[in-house]
Amino acid sequence: MKLLEERIRKDGKIRGGGTVLKVGSFLNHQIDVDLYNEIGKEFFRLFGQDGVTKILTIEASGIGIACIAGQYFHVPVIFAKKSKTKNIDGEVYTASVQSFTHANIYTIMVEKEFIQPQDRVLLIDDFLANGAALDGLIQVVDQAGATLVGAGVCVEKAFQPGGERIRSRGVRVEALARVASMSEEEGVTFC
Ligand code: 5GP
Repeated sequence: MKLLEERIRKDGKIRGGGTVLKVGSFLNHQIDVDLYNEIGKEFFRLFGQDGVTKILTIEASGIGIACIAGQYFHVPVIFAKKSKTKNIDGEVYTASVQSFTHANIYTIMVEKEFIQPQDRVLLIDDFLANGAALDGLIQVVDQAGATLVGAGVCVEKAFQPGGERIRSRGVRVEALARVASMSEEEGVTFC
C-alpha cells in the first residue's frame, strides 16, 4: 500500500539498531484517522469476499485499526485482553505471548462467548515481527474451533521471521507494507 509506505518513509523513525520502527506520530500513539480509514478499506479489499464474521485483534495498538476495518466489514471486533480484569467473568480462551517491545511474556484472553465454532475470523494487528502476537491469536481461534480466514497487518518487518513462519503453516498473511531492511543511516526499503 503506497500511502503507508510513503508515510513510513516520511515519518517513521528507526531505533534499536535497525530492529524497531517507531510510527507513533501516525499509527500507534498519535493516530492519523484518515490513514486508518484507508487501511481499513484496503483490508476490506483484500478479505472482503471471504465471509469474515469476526475481527480479532490484540490490545492496545490493534484496536483502533481493527475498529475502522470493522466499519467496512460490518462485523464485530474483539480484542484479546492482556490482563484479567474484573470485567471478565465468563470462561476464557488463553494463550501466552512473548512481547516484542517489552521482552516479557504475557497471557492474552478472550471470553469464550465471543468466538463460536461457526465463526470465520480475520486477525488484524499493527506489526508483524517474530509472529508471537499472531501465534497467540491463532491459538485462540483454534481453541474456539472457528475458521481462521487469515491475518492482515499494517507493517511486516520481513527481515524478522514471523511472516515466513506463519505463512509456512498455510495461514494467509497480508501485509500492507513489507519492510525488507531498515537502518538509521539508510532508512527503510520495502519488498
Ligand atoms: P511479534 O509478536 O510479531 O514479534 O510483534 C508484534 C507486536 O509487537 C505488535 O503487536 C507490535 O505492537 C509490536 N511490534 C513489533 N515490532 C514493532 C516495531 O518495530 N515497532 C512498533 N511500534 N511495534 C512493534
